[in-house]
Amino acid sequence: MMFNSILCRYHEIATKGNNRIMFERCLVDNIHCLFKKAGFDYPVRRVRGRIWIEKKDGALFDAEELMNISEVLQRTFGIESFSPAIKLEPSMDVLEAKVKELAPVVFEEFFQKYSNVTFRVRARRSNKQFPLCSKDIEIRLADALTSVVDEDRLTVNLDEAMVTFGCEVRDEFALLFLNETKGPGGLPVGSNEGAVALFSGGIDSPVACYMTMKRGCPVDFVAFHSNPYTPQETTDKIKRIADHMNLFQRGGKLFLCNLVEFQKRVRDYCTPKYRTILYRRGMLRIAEKIANKYHRIALLTGDSVGQVASQTLQNMRTIDAATPMLVLRPLVGMDKMETIRIAEKIGTFALSNVQVPDSCTVFSPSQAATTSDIATIEAEEALIPDYEAILTEIAESAEKI
Ligand code: ATP
Ligand code: MG
Repeated sequence: MMFNSILCRYHEIATKGNNRIMFERCLVDNIHCLFKKAGFDYPVRRVRGRIWIEKKDGALFDAEELMNISEVLQRTFGIESFSPAIKLEPSMDVLEAKVKELAPVVFEEFFQKYSNVTFRVRARRSNKQFPLCSKDIEIRLADALTSVVDEDRLTVNLDEAMVTFGCEVRDEFALLFLNETKGPGGLPVGSNEGAVALFSGGIDSPVACYMTMKRGCPVDFVAFHSNPYTPQETTDKIKRIADHMNLFQRGGKLFLCNLVEFQKRVRDYCTPKYRTILYRRGMLRIAEKIANKYHRIALLTGDSVGQVASQTLQNMRTIDAATPMLVLRPLVGMDKMETIRIAEKIGTFALSNVQVPDSCTVFSPSQAATTSDIATIEAEEALIPDYEAILTEIAESAEKI
């Protein structure tokens, strides 16, 4: 509907001093890349504190194009909000004329549903040569708007309006935009170092990945299965969720590792109540090897304090001690409902909420220890023949997808 560009705003990037340009470039590259993955390609540019998307020939976007773009921008970290916009000459007459042309079309849709519609006009001016200040621009545009729309059915609401007309007057051009859609916020993926996630296919670990990506870290995924004790469905489900997570970044690698030989040894040589802790320590060590190989500097799990026996503080400490690597646990203070709400929002809940056998429960004891100390667990590991060799073997034979 008459829009020839998309205006994207960022927030946290704007607080970055000398590094700001690096973050901006990263964001532009990511938008481009996620567009390509979604099957389209538009020029994306940085324009003084904003990101700017136009068609090559300055042509108008159609409704479907706007919808597809919006879908991608809503999962591009670093974007605070975005709006469809029209690029115009920086002249008050031109802006007013455009508002008069657009407003009847925009409000008609709302009038069909509501007897009264709230609206607001927002203006910003970076062009200090422009004869009017922001407040005056707002007043002029609001007058233009009410001159073409039934005023009795309109109410101004500056805080929360159904319709926002916005305007940015810049040096070379002015922009008229309609409404604002929220982006995911955060920092562009790739602006920070990468992490390797322990990725189970449960509800928690995809949310933990989302939160880490949101801070700019690309994420690769390591998933453990226990073939033939866990079925094909277990790994199929994990692949589906990893694919989904890659909608938010350029493309993380998935490593599928068969843990079963290690689990058998834990079963045969160690005290049953410590099995889960021993599995987790093994998983961290294998993930660490993969992280080192691919120059990732942190590991990442979906642990939350107190959720299950292996997530008491004591057991987390014991598990952590298995690796010198930084272990991120972005869900540490969240309860299950908070995590589920995010999972629903990002589209992983339905994928995760399919019950398939999990690697962790293979040979799992009826009673798992809620307490442990590092010395006891190290003594348990010392009972396992070729402990280190078997972990190396599992890491090296990981199936890379
Ligand atoms: P759920 O939503 O069922 O809690 P979860 O993924 O959090 O799923 P937990 O048993 O709570 O499962 O495991 C805690 C963390 O340990 C996971 O978030 C994940 O990081 C790691 N983990 C558990 N099982 C696996 C596995 N099979 N492969 C990789 N990582 C795993
Ligand atoms: Mg969990």
